[in-house]
Amino acid sequence: MNIQLKTDGKHTPMLTGKVALVTGSTSGIGLGIARALAGAGAAVVLNGLGAADEVAKTKDDLAREYGVKVGYSPADMSKPKAIGEMIGSTLLEHGRLDILVNNAGVQHVAPLEQFPPEKWDQILAINLSSAFHTIRLALPAMRERGYGRIINIASAHGLVASPFKAAYVAAKHGIVGLTKVAALEAAEQGITCNAICPGYVYTPLVEAQIDGQAKAHGISRDQVIRDVLLAQQPNKRFATVEEIGALTAFLASEAAASITGTALPVDGGWTAH
Ligand code: NAD
Repeated sequence: MNIQLKTDGKHTPMLTGKVALVTGSTSGIGLGIARALAGAGAAVVLNGLGAADEVAKTKDDLAREYGVKVGYSPADMSKPKAIGEMIGSTLLEHGRLDILVNNAGVQHVAPLEQFPPEKWDQILAINLSSAFHTIRLALPAMRERGYGRIINIASAHGLVASPFKAAYVAAKHGIVGLTKVAALEAAEQGITCNAICPGYVYTPLVEAQIDGQAKAHGISRDQVIRDVLLAQQPNKRFATVEEIGALTAFLASEAAASITGTALPVDGGWTAH
């Protein structure tokens, strides 16, 4: 699906003039979101881990492809001080921050009794506390302008649980709660806050699991996809980063001004069970 909004000389892309910051946007869903926002005309600040030359290439490619300003912050989302510097430098460089997408996230799978406490702390810091820090630091500038769009990438695991994912499920349920609080507190200033709750999305990370799982279970790739990864996903297909990007761009637009405090599943029916 092509989510780039082309101009025909009469229409301006819907996010032209806006500045967006997407955490964890050097790969996967975050990069798909950055692409969709840039395609809709927003200047984008990328963030995330990655080799310097690869990040520089991603940044240049986006800027060239969409003709928008693209920046990058290497801030570690587990470090509140670094998060503060990222928001500060974004505001300094662009003079505004209209669209904040909290997407950075990590996972660890283990039974509760064996769940390493340091993994719990890391997942809560990156998947939940980072959003608390970005939101509290971005809100004043959004309130001043009377416009803001905060989009938190939660998960189907923000709405339902699976075994062995204690920290991830706790953090994702937490971010759905944080979304509602931010929506209520900022509602009168033209600011919305919503959570997107994807089921399985096809990313390089997911692709990397397929062959390993096939080997471990002694089954085919197709069986892994259908019976292991997509066991809970009734439509038996992965969501795509383009689908998540398109929804994010819509939520970031003027057209979504009345949608706030929601947790929107993009999960092929998983949470309808
Ligand atoms: P990914 O591993 O491809 O991307 C994660 C991004 O977060 C990367 O850019 C990485 O560099 C960044 N990141 C990790 N630790 C960081 C840190 N300490 N500081 C800054 N950046 C950091 O994963 P993804 O599948 O694209 O996941 C993105 C988000 O979507 C996550 O929050 C994840 O929980 C959520 N999600 C993914 C799926 C899925 O099926 N892929 C489903 C539901 C929700």
